[in-house]
Amino acid sequence: MIFNPRKIVPCCLALIFIVLTGGSLNAQQPFSAITYRLSMSRPVSHIFEVAIEVELPEGFKDQAISFQMPKWSPGRYAVFDFAKNVQEVHALSGICPPKAACKMAPLKVTRVDDQTWSIAIENSHSLTFAYKVFGNNLSGTFSQLDERHANYNGGSIFMYAVDHKPDAVKLVIDPPAGWKIINGRLERAGQTEWQFPNWDIMIDTPTEIAPDWSVDNFEVDGKKYHVMVHSFGPEAGKRPALVKDIEKIVRAETALWGPPEFDEYTFLIHFAADDESGDGMEHLTSTQVIESGALSDTGMYDDTLDAVAHEFFHVWNVKRLRPFELGPWDFTKPVSTRGLFIAEGFTNYYGHLMLRRAGLRDDAMFFRRESRTITGIENAPGTRLMSAVESSLSAPFLDDAPHSQKTNLENTAISYYPKGELVGMVLDLLVRGRSQGKASLDDVMRAMYDEFYVKSSNNSYYLHGRGYQPEDLERVASKIAGVDLADFFARYVDDTQTLPYDEAFGYVGLRLKKTPLKEPFNGGLTLQFDNPRMPIIDNVRANSPAENAGLQSGDEVVDFGGKAVTKSTWLTTLARYKAGESIPITVKRHRRTIKANIVLGEVERYEYKIEEREDATPAQRALRTAWLR
Ligand SMILES: [Zn+2]
Ligand SMILES: [Zn+2]
Repeated sequence: MIFNPRKIVPCCLALIFIVLTGGSLNAQQPFSAITYRLSMSRPVSHIFEVAIEVELPEGFKDQAISFQMPKWSPGRYAVFDFAKNVQEVHALSGICPPKAACKMAPLKVTRVDDQTWSIAIENSHSLTFAYKVFGNNLSGTFSQLDERHANYNGGSIFMYAVDHKPDAVKLVIDPPAGWKIINGRLERAGQTEWQFPNWDIMIDTPTEIAPDWSVDNFEVDGKKYHVMVHSFGPEAGKRPALVKDIEKIVRAETALWGPPEFDEYTFLIHFAADDESGDGMEHLTSTQVIESGALSDTGMYDDTLDAVAHEFFHVWNVKRLRPFELGPWDFTKPVSTRGLFIAEGFTNYYGHLMLRRAGLRDDAMFFRRESRTITGIENAPGTRLMSAVESSLSAPFLDDAPHSQKTNLENTAISYYPKGELVGMVLDLLVRGRSQGKASLDDVMRAMYDEFYVKSSNNSYYLHGRGYQPEDLERVASKIAGVDLADFFARYVDDTQTLPYDEAFGYVGLRLKKTPLKEPFNGGLTLQFDNPRMPIIDNVRANSPAENAGLQSGDEVVDFGGKAVTKSTWLTTLARYKAGESIPITVKRHRRTIKANIVLGEVERYEYKIEEREDATPAQRALRTAWLR
């Protein structure tokens, strides 16, 4: 039986959530002032220094106040426990004048649990809570301080005062001499102080501090856009063109949504040139895009545009139009939301579509991109086991989560990014087709934005509007398409049935062609070649010849088909064998040497290709043009 949470959700989950998370509706009397002071006196140590100064209101009665390091941060759903990098915590009774030496009595600090510190107030009217936090990851979630720059994401360095997340906060940054600060809420050059309406908005403002980033500016519809680039490798003169193409993306996406509500927006782009760091993270008035290569590298330019098209779409979809559970958040436990297939998956789809509409890709490139996604999803063993909704709920295990326990997720899970991308594309084509071109997913998304963000009253201190549930999308899409889409959501969103590709592509004169994958049948084995002389089994597909042979993930492959295996020989060795034949393999598992035989079965992996139909009618071609241009 398939558990169907759609039956129970509509009204009551909302109430339960508000009662459990408290904060927003039951806020405490706010503190008189909260000031965060961030300094970085020794960049080579990778240690940020944070002091939180609190002025208590008249008649404040509590004996203690607590500060908490979030367990995770918005936009990345795995739990990382940022408290693991906190050190040298202490508190003082009072607030020293800035940059002055003053003597204050220490206050007793007690660590309450893995993420919480409690301070005994002892009749103080103000206090300073200070700590250091290590950060040496350039990413959209963590923070990095080194001799080149400071790039921080607030959730990984700033604790919040428990029960006072809604309070207004001030931030003062003391940068190293000669380093400049930029973020998505910069009002003037040289700014070092910010006032934020609450802690959540402060941590939504990632910040870059360095001596040598560049910034280029443009305007669209009277809104100012800044493109900060910090390159740790050569740019090959490509930056001016990149900025022009980013402007094309902004124009295409604002053409879909209408003008964004902000006045200024900042792209914070890093070319890390370390073959390791790579990320993108959305924020209300900025985004962090981190590429692992240099701008001069082949493919890096296009990868950056891909990331920008995705992240900028989040200005609307996820940052403002958001699933119900996404803000304000409870940072003591992972968030559960059923809507990530919309928030991230639809954004993946539109990121690709917007590159087409911006003229940065042609039809064939867009079809190849979506064909790759279909091939990936339809061949994934988890695709018939995990629905789009279940994948969304599993985000804490899937979104870059570290696993020290061995898992079977490769065989049981699918990502809500590609799955949601395909749900979005197919839904878009069904709405276009079934409404005879009168409506599209663009209209649905705009209506959702209007209903849940623009016209909705606030349901929390955090942000305008209120969140939606997947059922709201079903209702709005059905209304706009003029047909009941309940069956679509039941089969392809809540359940794991194969999406109706034929109907969807048929409306726009396309077809999906399925052919056996050209690669040699791999027996259900994926290898990784981090050490080229000792390949390791990365994954063993469920119910595959490799699993039948007793192989498992982590085994070191000593020989295969009688030979040592290298990255270049392993597929050619495989190609010598046919279905029904047996390939000898020797692996090392810890101290054991194991000899086995993989008996190949029939091909069961396919390549999917979106193709134009020669017999497409003029009406179908017109629908296609309306979709892509
Ligand atoms: Zn930087
Ligand atoms: Zn995203």
